[in-house]
Amino acid sequence: MQFTAEHENLRRTVARFVEMELNPHVEEWERAEEFPSHAIFKKLGDLGLLGIKYDPAYGGLGLDFSYSMVMAEELGLTHCGGVPMAIGVHTDMCTPALNRFGSEHVKRNFLAPSIAGDVVGCLGVSEPSAGSDVSAARTMARKDGDDYVITGQKMWITNGLKADWCCLLANTSDDAAHRNKSLICVPMDAKGITKQKIHKIGMHSSDTAQLFFDEVRVPQANVIGREGMGFTYQMQQFQEERLYSAASSLKGFDRLIDLTIEYTRDRQAFGKSILDNQVVHFRLAELRTEVEALRALTWSAVEQYVAGVDVTRLASMAKLKTGRLAREISDSCLQYWGGMGFTADNPVSRAYRDTRLVSIGAGADEIMLGIIAKLEGTLPGTSNRAPKVH
Ligand SMILES: Cc1cc2nc3c(=O)[nH]c(=O)nc-3n(C[C@H](O)[C@H](O)[C@H](O)COP(=O)(O)OP(=O)(O)OC[C@H]3O[C@@H](n4cnc5c(N)ncnc54)[C@H](O)[C@@H]3O)c2cc1C
Repeated sequence: MQFTAEHENLRRTVARFVEMELNPHVEEWERAEEFPSHAIFKKLGDLGLLGIKYDPAYGGLGLDFSYSMVMAEELGLTHCGGVPMAIGVHTDMCTPALNRFGSEHVKRNFLAPSIAGDVVGCLGVSEPSAGSDVSAARTMARKDGDDYVITGQKMWITNGLKADWCCLLANTSDDAAHRNKSLICVPMDAKGITKQKIHKIGMHSSDTAQLFFDEVRVPQANVIGREGMGFTYQMQQFQEERLYSAASSLKGFDRLIDLTIEYTRDRQAFGKSILDNQVVHFRLAELRTEVEALRALTWSAVEQYVAGVDVTRLASMAKLKTGRLAREISDSCLQYWGGMGFTADNPVSRAYRDTRLVSIGAGADEIMLGIIAKLEGTLPGTSNRAPKVH
């Protein structure tokens, strides 16, 4: 991936935003289990950072996806995972399908204010009994006159408590599970929506909610693209979500290794620094190599995505590797911090809690392995089992 001067300018802008507007408040937000998303999103919107890849007609910067990923990578400098995740849900998870397939009506009403930072968005796909298996979603949007009337539940929804609108996946017919779903823009102040906060082991500053929809009425004009295409749109939307997950993790991984080098260099045991034990500096060298390999994989996927290639395979690999590496790095680094690593107010223990999510959210590791195996032609029960040459 060749970065332009424009990429580097954007990098500096985002890094400065993290340093000035996010990191000084992270400790307070983590304790409060929330952050002022409306105020932060407005500041990001004023800088043009919520619509980097989107159409200028709706307030976007009209740049390509690689610029959005530069922002994701720099947001990884934030001293917690919750805030970058909340921003990513808004920029790269609940808006890509709206931008690509939405009508003028939904773009004006939901995309433009999201880009401006006037509203906060969330993505409602998972349900209490449908997480990995998205096709099993049961939330129903039945037609009544010109409206949908929505009944069901959504689970673990990031930004769910504060969001002004939700990109909601709901069944709009009794057709087969992959053809009966639609993505619908739902204003979160609609009558019949209730919310319940979910407490988590990590990602504390990000709000996570269970959402209940009881006969919620929204105009059918709020559907994104074609009715019945929601499952397909969501699978496409997942590619940007998974690449966001990878790109936004890289700098956090580097920071964890840097902090551990610093700590173990100072910390003495048996007359020498902890870092001087070969098992420690070799392990950290190996983890750094893994981060560089993940960086190369991620940017290779981004470059191909920008060129119009289907990157389902590479995005799934990048997401899988990010989840695996998050667990390896945070576990190894925490180990080398000893008892200090086990204390709550410590950057390593926070990363240990926060990054554990990567192997679960946006498609668990096993789901990524299934996708990769399917594309390799090795997944039993799938039609194309011929070995694939790349
Ligand atoms: C903090 C947080 C934020 C989230 N934010 C959002 C959000 O904003 N919007 C949204 O829609 N969802 C969100 N999610 C939901 C997330 O995407 C789901 O948790 C995830 O898809 C996994 O679904 P599940 O939890 O139901 O796990 P399940 O489907 O119950 O699976 C449990 C485990 O079983 C294993 N497994 C599952 N299928 C297979 C298989 N085929 N083969 C082998 N093993 C398998 C995996 O290890 C998996 O972790 C969030 C979750 C969390 C925790």
